[in-house]
Amino acid sequence: QGSRIAPSAAVTEFLSRLGEGRMLIGDRWVAAADGATFEVVDPATGTVFHRAPQATVADVDAAVAAAREAFENPAWAAMTPTARGQLLWKLADLMEANADELAEIESLDNGKAKLIARHADVAMAIDFLRYMAGWATKIEGATIPVSVPYMPGAKLFAYTQREPVGVVGQIVPWNFPLLMAAWKLGPVLAVGCTSVLKPAEQTPLSALRLGELILEAGYPAGVVNVVTGFGHISGARLAEHPDVDKVAFTGSTEVGKLIGHAAMRNLKRVSLELGGKSPVIVLPDADVAQAVEGAANAIFFNHGQVCTAGSRLYVHRSIFDRVAEGVAGAAKGIRLGHGLDPETQMGPLVSEEQASRVAGYITKGLSEGAQALCGGRRADREGYFVEPTVLVGCAQDATVVREEIFGPVLCALPFDDLDEVAAMANDTPYGLAASVWGTDLRQIHRLVPKIKAGTVWVNAHNVLDAALPFGGFKQSGWGREMGRSVLDLYTEEKSVCMVV
Ligand code: NAD
Repeated sequence: QGSRIAPSAAVTEFLSRLGEGRMLIGDRWVAAADGATFEVVDPATGTVFHRAPQATVADVDAAVAAAREAFENPAWAAMTPTARGQLLWKLADLMEANADELAEIESLDNGKAKLIARHADVAMAIDFLRYMAGWATKIEGATIPVSVPYMPGAKLFAYTQREPVGVVGQIVPWNFPLLMAAWKLGPVLAVGCTSVLKPAEQTPLSALRLGELILEAGYPAGVVNVVTGFGHISGARLAEHPDVDKVAFTGSTEVGKLIGHAAMRNLKRVSLELGGKSPVIVLPDADVAQAVEGAANAIFFNHGQVCTAGSRLYVHRSIFDRVAEGVAGAAKGIRLGHGLDPETQMGPLVSEEQASRVAGYITKGLSEGAQALCGGRRADREGYFVEPTVLVGCAQDATVVREEIFGPVLCALPFDDLDEVAAMANDTPYGLAASVWGTDLRQIHRLVPKIKAGTVWVNAHNVLDAALPFGGFKQSGWGREMGRSVLDLYTEEKSVCMVV
């Protein structure tokens, strides 16, 4: 077992090349101004295997200054759209050439299975950057016919153009560290902004490796800066920094609100991808086997640490027991283990804090009257493992049904009719995603418009594509990432009107 989970030569070499306590500002790998570092922990064992710099306010200021300089540097500001597209494609190629190493870094840092990191996180990150490379040459405006009442007879020519918003502060979470960094950096690099990227303190490493690849691809110094550190210090500084034009955040709704407030002080642009409590709705005519497998994947993928996790399962009463027990059966078959063990299907949660938080929710659910069909506790082994858990008998207003748990914990509830399930599905401050499982298209088409969520899947869950806009209704966020929509988040629209 021990030898199977040892890091590869490539990862060992990356960590020693990086050196402890180094982050990327401009084109230099620097320590925090006061030399402080924090621990990088393997969540499967609790072992500290690296130390990353704990960026100070002064470090964030230096990174913002580097990003500002890069934004104004003709090597970047005057780069043609074609050249920006080519560079982005080159970065994606470099990621592909190093995909195995990136997946391993992600697995060690976050705990997820390396195979899943390779085929989901890394593959999707590469795919998204290539998709965004195509947009670099398609950032268009419009010509607009105008007729101004107080300028009779004037000949006017008016058009719009889109310009990069400027220096962007980007704060990402620990659940998909590399993929979230790619979602953030793709539009920056396509439209010509510059970035100070702050990965989560639980998972700083893949963003640092990405920083190396960005320099290797040939980006001018300061186009992307990677500062590692704590949210309340370096994240908060980015959100309030007067020379940051826009802040983009993915993480909890609670922190999203803090960031919105901070950004508001300078009226900087803000986009927020926040939490969810996404419903999975199984209609009476659903294919039960398909719904069981789909519902299990919807909650257990990435150990439930997914903003779109299908954490509330609403099943028509006629098939409730079959579906709930089916999902519990699937959960019991999931092999827990170290992310680098090829047999592993589910790794640990990201941190001790997260594991005890999730276990606390389970205890709370049981004390509020739920029963566990499976799981119901932390796994009896080293590391931050929590058993995949299916709770039944929860009230709609139970804490576990209302709050985002962000772990492998599913609450299953029965329903009797469409209006009732639509109301239950919407009975949440969140509105990120939902899925509907069934075969009667008329019922599905009636239900989909009633659901207040940014994405609704039908007979699927967690299907994300670079071309599909993604984001939340209600307290799940502001703005849409991915697809053409993301260009609006990273550009300003300028109207030009001339008398001819
Ligand atoms: P978080 O929202 O605190 O952290 C996300 C990012 O924000 C990290 O980079 C963090 O350093 C930064 N951050 C934290 N406080 C900040 C502040 N005051 N100003 C600026 N940046 C700040 O998430 P967490 O504490 O790691 O996890 C707590 C809960 O958040 C999870 O259990 C889960 O419910 C939720 N969460 C949701 C998502 C999502 O994608 N929706 C991702 C991560 C966590």
